[in-house]
Amino acid sequence: MKDVTPLTAPSSGPGLPTADALPADTDSSALVADLAVSPECNIRLFNGGETIFTEGSAPDRAYIIESGYVEIFVGAGADSLQLNVLGPGDIFGEMGIIDASPRSASAKAIGPCRCIVLSAALVAERIESSSPMVRLLIAMSLHRNRAYNTYLKSLARPQLSLPQPAVTENTYAKNQQYQQILEDIKLESDLQNAVGNDELFLMYQPLLDLNTRSIIGFESLLRWQCPQRGLITPQHFIALAEETSLILPMGDWILEHSCASLRRFQDQLDRIGQSQTNFFVSVNISVRQFQQPDFFDRLMACSQRHGVSAHQIKLEVTERIFLDLDEIDAIDSIGKCRAAGFEVSLDDFGTGYSSLNYLERCEIDCLKIDRSFIHKLCTSDRARILVGSIIDIAHKLSLPTVAEGIETQAQMEALQAMGCAIGQGFLFSHPLRFNEALALVGQSLAPNFLHLA
Ligand code: C2E
Ligand code: CA
Ligand code: CA
Repeated sequence: MKDVTPLTAPSSGPGLPTADALPADTDSSALVADLAVSPECNIRLFNGGETIFTEGSAPDRAYIIESGYVEIFVGAGADSLQLNVLGPGDIFGEMGIIDASPRSASAKAIGPCRCIVLSAALVAERIESSSPMVRLLIAMSLHRNRAYNTYLKSLARPQLSLPQPAVTENTYAKNQQYQQILEDIKLESDLQNAVGNDELFLMYQPLLDLNTRSIIGFESLLRWQCPQRGLITPQHFIALAEETSLILPMGDWILEHSCASLRRFQDQLDRIGQSQTNFFVSVNISVRQFQQPDFFDRLMACSQRHGVSAHQIKLEVTERIFLDLDEIDAIDSIGKCRAAGFEVSLDDFGTGYSSLNYLERCEIDCLKIDRSFIHKLCTSDRARILVGSIIDIAHKLSLPTVAEGIETQAQMEALQAMGCAIGQGFLFSHPLRFNEALALVGQSLAPNFLHLA
């Protein structure tokens, strides 16, 4: 059992400064006469010995100590037990706000004390806007903190019995949302090993010239063969990788393998006497990758390493690049890649915000119409009008359009009639393993030719 005997009541914990031992606070002493809350700057002044809040009360605010010292304690009078003495820069009173529980300790000023008041709403808003994982970590450490405080109380006052397990039991463990967060934490930890353990691989989905049906390139699509979970598609882990910096080594890996595959596709075309200098691989690039100052250098180095031309690599970016990156930076980065010959496609076009705005300011090479529009193309007049308008705008800007997610002959015919140049979708082929894709290089695909499950 942990030795806590030196922590004796009242207010004389070992290693914790007592009021006498604390440095004098000259700054605030002159102001202490005024005890009113200052609405303009949310400053609160306390006299020495003044109670700031009491154990069991409802938490309505937290405090940051600007000057002076605050004692945190449990119990009252001779029975009180000092838990901590906090000084300038420390925050206190936040626990109850975070987990909406009554105050588990009291606070009183040791000498004149000046504090910044944080309203409960302000703290709650910050917590709410943090990631679920951060909230879980905070909630768990609070839970432990409270349990420890209870334990200390029981040592100081042996007449208090320790709470029943039901009270200290981690209620979060039963919460479905927290279970999901825990699952994400485990997924993230497994994902950390995925690159190093060779668990990632790319699949390649053909892109076709809709008039000739010939394969003009592939989009590389990431897959994760997780030993514990089986095959996982990117919807289940890309967002998580993007939230952390995991997407960076992963993105390097994707670029490396996409360029290596492109080299082999190119070699195959040469071998069968169909050399095409325009055969391409489209690579999905996350905003985080673009944010790296040396992204362009890495991209250049990678294409050179594999002996492929810049114009054979299409970078698929979503409109998020204009939201998450400073717009000027995004336009600069895109411009730098394009100047070197890399092509930039705007992916999932039509699903983001104010795309037309960005189209005016930033030159790109291709628009990819999101598959949600294609899905409704033949059943919704509005979808048909929107797709027709996107293709018209693209024509007027001299941009080719790619329709992704083509699943039916009718969708393909409608797109052709509207003048869409390039198509991709299950109607032609699902994403393929590298060797399957290699075998198709140089071929044309009839619809349903490769309608693989
Ligand atoms: P995306 O870039 O829009 O990729 C196209 C997705 O549509 C792929 O899903 C593809 O399998 C699917 N798809 C293709 N044709 C059809 C069709 O006819 N019908 C339907 N219902 N779906 C079709 P996938 O491979 O699961 O990828 C999902 C998303 O994950 C991608 O959407 C992309 O945002 C992301 N992703 C995939 N690979 C990478 C990668 O290497 N890097 C990054 N950063 N993101 C990736
Ligand atoms: Ca894409
Ligand atoms: Ca897309």
